[in-house]
Amino acid sequence: MPHPEPVFAPPPEPVPFTFDPRAELPSTAEVVVVGGGMVGASAAYHLARAGMPPLVIEANTPAWGASGRNAGMALAGIGGHFPRVTRLVADAGGRSILDYTARSLDMLEAWDAELSGGIEWDRFGSLDLATDPAEEAHVRRMAELQAAEGLDVRVVNGTELRDLAPGLAADEVRAAKWTPRDAKLNPFRLCYALLETVRQLGGTVVTGVRVDRLLAASGRVAGVATSHGEVSAGAVLLATNAWTPALAPHLAANLTPIRETVCVTEMVPFSVGRPGFETNQCNEYWRQMRSGEVVIGGFAVADEGMGIGSYSIRVRPHVPPLLAALLARMHPALADARIIRCWAGLLDFASLEMPMAGPLPAEDGTPLPGAYVAAGLTGHGHPYAPILGLLTAELISGGEARTLSLAPFDPRRYVGVAHAPTWLEPFQGTATIPH
Ligand SMILES: Cc1cc2nc3c(=O)[nH]c(=O)nc-3n(C[C@H](O)[C@H](O)[C@H](O)COP(=O)(O)OP(=O)(O)OC[C@H]3O[C@@H](n4cnc5c(N)ncnc54)[C@H](O)[C@@H]3O)c2cc1C
Repeated sequence: MPHPEPVFAPPPEPVPFTFDPRAELPSTAEVVVVGGGMVGASAAYHLARAGMPPLVIEANTPAWGASGRNAGMALAGIGGHFPRVTRLVADAGGRSILDYTARSLDMLEAWDAELSGGIEWDRFGSLDLATDPAEEAHVRRMAELQAAEGLDVRVVNGTELRDLAPGLAADEVRAAKWTPRDAKLNPFRLCYALLETVRQLGGTVVTGVRVDRLLAASGRVAGVATSHGEVSAGAVLLATNAWTPALAPHLAANLTPIRETVCVTEMVPFSVGRPGFETNQCNEYWRQMRSGEVVIGGFAVADEGMGIGSYSIRVRPHVPPLLAALLARMHPALADARIIRCWAGLLDFASLEMPMAGPLPAEDGTPLPGAYVAAGLTGHGHPYAPILGLLTAELISGGEARTLSLAPFDPRRYVGVAHAPTWLEPFQGTATIPH
C-alpha cells in the first residue's frame, strides 16, 4: 500500500483522554500548568520551589505522552539539530546552546540525588555510530563543531571503541562520536518524582481532566475552560507537546507532530555496553536499562508518511522489525532476544528546530499577559525540559528568566509566519552540515 504524503501542519487535534468523574478540580489557582510530562513537571517543580505551587492539569496520567514513551537518552549535543540551533542562539545574542542543554544534564544529575527514589541516572556517555562514509563525515564534522562550542566530545574507533562498548559489533562501525558526559535515565521516574515534590510543596496535580481552551478577559489570560468546568487563574503555562496547537492554533504552522516507535526486549542477562547508542544522525537510538532490557527507538522515516503530521499513536507493524534488525546487527548477542513490547509516541518538531518557551502572544501577535508556552522540543526532551522548566518558572514567578536568557526560545519567532521546516533532511539522515 503506498504511504500517504507527509503533512507538515495538520489540523490541530486535542489530546485524547478518558474523562475522570472523580477528579476534583479547584475553581481558582494562582498559576495553571497544562500537561504532566517532563516539561510541565519541571516547570511545576520550579514554580513550587519559588513559592508559587501550581495547579497541574493533565488529561491522562503523568508521563502519558512523549515523556513516558521515550528511550531515556540524555544527549547534550541534541543530535543533528546542533548546528542550526547553535546559529539561532547566536542570532538571539546567546553564547551557546550548550549553556542550556549541558545545564539540563547537570540538573538531572542533581535531581537523581535529591528526588525520592532517584531517576536511574547513569552518566556513562553516548556513542553516535557511523556505519557508512556519509555518516562518518557527518559524525566527524559534528564532533568538530560541538568541541568548538565546548562539549567534551571526540571521535573514536578500533580498540578504543571496543573497550568502550565490548558488546558492540565494532566491525560494523567506521567511527563513533564519543560524548562521555551524556547519560541515560528512567523518564517515568523523572515525571512522577518531580510531581510528587510539587504535591509536597503545596501544589495540586489533577488527572483525567482536559483543558479545552484558554480564557481571556480585559486583554489578559483569566484561566482555562476544561472538561470539568472553568478554573480562574492569573497565569497559564501550556506544556502540551504536539497537542499545543489545539489550545494555540496560531502555532500550528510551525509545530509538527511526528510519530516515532519504540520497542523493548526481554531482560538479557549480559551487558550490551554501558553507554547509550545512536546512529544514522541520531534517528535511531538505544540503551540498556539497569534491569537488563534494551529499549530501541526510531525509523520514523520508514513509517507511513514518515510519521510526519499524524496524531495517531498506533504502532505500524512494519517498523518494529526494522528496529529488531538494527539491534541484532549492532549487538550480535541480541539476535535471539525477543521484543516483548512496542509503543509509539509523538515528537513535537518546531519548524526551525529551536524549542519555544516564554510568553505566548495572542493570535495577532500582540501580548497576552499571563499566557506562556513551552513546547517544540524537537525530539530532545531531556536536554531541554529541566532548564526550560526553570526559566519559564522564573519568568512566571518573578517576571524574568534570571538563570539564563530565554531570548533564543522566544515563541514570537513562530507566530504570524510559516517557516519551511529545516529539520526534514537531518530527520531523513541525509543532511550535510552547513559550514
Ligand atoms: C518515541 C520517542 C522517543 C524519544 N526519545 C527521546 C530520548 O531518548 N531522549 C530525549 O531527550 N527525548 C526523547 N524524546 C522526546 C521527549 O520525550 C519529548 O521531547 C518530551 O517528553 C516532551 O515533553 P513534554 O512534557 O513537552 O510532552 P509530553 O510528555 O507529551 O507531555 C504533554 C502532556 O500534556 C498532556 N496534555 C496535552 N494537551 C492537554 C490538554 N489540553 N489538557 C490537559 N493535558 C494535556 C498530555 O496528556 C501529555 O501527558 C522521545 C520522544 C518520543 C515520542
